[in-house]
Amino acid sequence: MLDSIKQFFHERQPRLEWMQIEVTSRCNAFCIYCPRTAYREKWISRDFSPDLFRSLYPSLCKTKIVHLQGWGEPFLNPDIFSMIRMARQAGCAVYTTTNGTLITDRISEEIINSGLSMISFSLAGFGKTNARIRPGTESAEVISSVQRINRKKRELGEKYPKIHLSYILLNSTLQDVRLIHEKLAGTGIDEVIISSLDFVPEKDLQSEVVSLESNSHYPDISNELNLALQHCSRAGLKLYYRLPSSEILNPLCTEKVLQSAYIGSGGDVFPCAYMALPVRDASYMSNGRLVPYEGFSTGSLVSTSFPQIWRGNDSRQFRNSFFTGGYYHICRTCPKRREE
Ligand code: SF4
Repeated sequence: MLDSIKQFFHERQPRLEWMQIEVTSRCNAFCIYCPRTAYREKWISRDFSPDLFRSLYPSLCKTKIVHLQGWGEPFLNPDIFSMIRMARQAGCAVYTTTNGTLITDRISEEIINSGLSMISFSLAGFGKTNARIRPGTESAEVISSVQRINRKKRELGEKYPKIHLSYILLNSTLQDVRLIHEKLAGTGIDEVIISSLDFVPEKDLQSEVVSLESNSHYPDISNELNLALQHCSRAGLKLYYRLPSSEILNPLCTEKVLQSAYIGSGGDVFPCAYMALPVRDASYMSNGRLVPYEGFSTGSLVSTSFPQIWRGNDSRQFRNSFFTGGYYHICRTCPKRREE
């Protein structure tokens, strides 16, 4: 009797704010700041299994938002649309982030018909700037993809997906912030979110990290961003920025890890994307020093159900670490604790 009560509680689905599922770790671009580019010799490229996705259905039914993307381009996975549909059937709002290189007319229509709630496009500037930072992608092509989906939404009389733009700001690309309103207003984008590098895979990239503090490249970053906010607001474009500040160190990170989970393309469950890189024997920059990278998985869906992993010792100890102050190595210096 006691055993069956225990079993019942272990199998009860946790209520989550969001679940991020890495539908693939493959990518067709070579962004200079991406861990996949930096670690390309050691990277494990694979697609998330459709069977494993189906097994997650009961957990999706208790999850508000599912983000179908990780360290890869989601539209490379041929099963992406059945995954979107299944997550919508489970009652989730479904988001994804794309590099915008694969969005044909047919894919645009499928995106809308699948019920996707939000699609975010990635950019790191315009023209030559973006081409240098995100080889394999062209800003003009990304903007055309946005317009294609927007046109299709109008043709089909649909409001969704909402279209966001994830804009990566680097120290060497700051000048392009002034072009955001001019290039993106009127394209169908609902929101632009500016962020900087939060995982630095190589020493050479450290100088590219933008924080809210002034720096030698750019003495008044806040003024510049506020100017961009004003221009965008006048052009009818919502702009937000989330940059780390050395004056902030929150006990918790912005990733809501107490109510969310990240599932890697191989079926392992992790607290967040930064602990889930599909790579072995890599290093990364922590507090200005190159240190060995150590991910942290709390279990595998191949052998254990999601509720069991969520209630298992490793997961509970990890969540407790934010209250005891015994932070896991990667959390100690994580920029996600330095954002408001
Ligand atoms: S603080 Fe830890 S759990 Fe939160 S985002 Fe950073 S590495 Fe992930």
